Amino acid sequence: MKNYMFPLILLSIALGILGGVFFPHEMLAMSWVGQLFINLLKLIVLPLIFCAMVSAITSIGGMHRLGSIGVYTLGYVLVSVSIAVTIGLCLLNMFKPGVGIAPSLIMANASPLDLKPMPFSAYMLELFPPNIVAAAARYEIMPIVFFSIVFAISCLSVGKTANPVIDFFAGLRDVLIRMIIWLMFLTPIGLFSLLGTAVAEASIRHLLMQSLRGMFFFILIFLLGLVLQILWQALVVVVVAKKNLKAFTSAASNALITAFATSSSMATLPITMLVAKEQEVSEEVARFVLPLATTINLAGTSMYEAVSALFFCQILGLHLSLLAQVGVFITAILAGMGATGIPEGGLVTMVMVLRNVSVPISAIGLLLPFDRILDRFRTMTNVWGDLVCAATVDRLQRLKSDIV
Ligand code: ASP
Repeated sequence: MKNYMFPLILLSIALGILGGVFFPHEMLAMSWVGQLFINLLKLIVLPLIFCAMVSAITSIGGMHRLGSIGVYTLGYVLVSVSIAVTIGLCLLNMFKPGVGIAPSLIMANASPLDLKPMPFSAYMLELFPPNIVAAAARYEIMPIVFFSIVFAISCLSVGKTANPVIDFFAGLRDVLIRMIIWLMFLTPIGLFSLLGTAVAEASIRHLLMQSLRGMFFFILIFLLGLVLQILWQALVVVVVAKKNLKAFTSAASNALITAFATSSSMATLPITMLVAKEQEVSEEVARFVLPLATTINLAGTSMYEAVSALFFCQILGLHLSLLAQVGVFITAILAGMGATGIPEGGLVTMVMVLRNVSVPISAIGLLLPFDRILDRFRTMTNVWGDLVCAATVDRLQRLKSDIV
């Protein structure tokens, strides 16, 4: 994202808020612009999720290479992402920041398709549909994720003859990412309309101040969650990876600043690799672990997906049972792992978490004004996690070679 986008986004936020407060009816009349922006995002999400999942899994490079480094990496990623989502869910359940916020902030842009209820039995049947294309046409994302996982594993097990297929989906993923980058240039316009519509709805009902307070509380809780995620991993650096925390952190700071500046863990990857080298992580481990971790170890993003879904449910007064929260837990992990490490990559896959709890997708509009800045913090958390992952896998690998 170019540098001039940030001031433009700030401007569109300011204009959207002013428009919503002073010209609520005009803003409501042009709410279709925001809807159009969401439609464009939704247009890309299905093929992107499929291609990103397939390329992430096939990037392991063949069944035979899924050796100990692969197992350690996958193990670390699963543990790290699960802890991140658990932290997020616990904080949201403890503090309930969504309670008391006007539901109209979410419902303003909702379409009937968004609001389709999904009971548990229907959810299970949707997960394994008889026709994947029909499921995609109905915008059911979880079956696509399951299908892509099995598809990718099959590609790996077929071996050489599947290489053109793997290359094709990797190429398609890059093309779709380019489309998303272009789409991000429309963010200021989309933001202006979505935010203006939300504020107009709230200001017509005199609920604006109450809602803003709730939003800031939510942001604080999310940032607290990210700090906790960084802290437990700092402990891993010392206890498991056996590194000097001060030296590790000061080396990592280069990558973290780049992550903050670019909002993209993928764009930060070259710096992340340099930091790993500086911290004496072996080349073999760094080359394999870091690209893979950058693709699937988006713990900050997974946490964001989970807390946002719960936050919206609290706003809408939807009580989520423990089972439903397990559903959020699983979909948030998959959504984080399926997200691409690009600016706002997490917003795209959030759709699948929201669909799982029957929250209208347009609810994302409520987060958009704050997402640019939150994205920077979760990208930093993601990159920190990638570095800790590489250092940990390196240490485990060394221990293994010492034993053998
Ligand atoms: N921008 C994040 C990253 O690159 C992804 C996201 O959470 O949107 O890691």
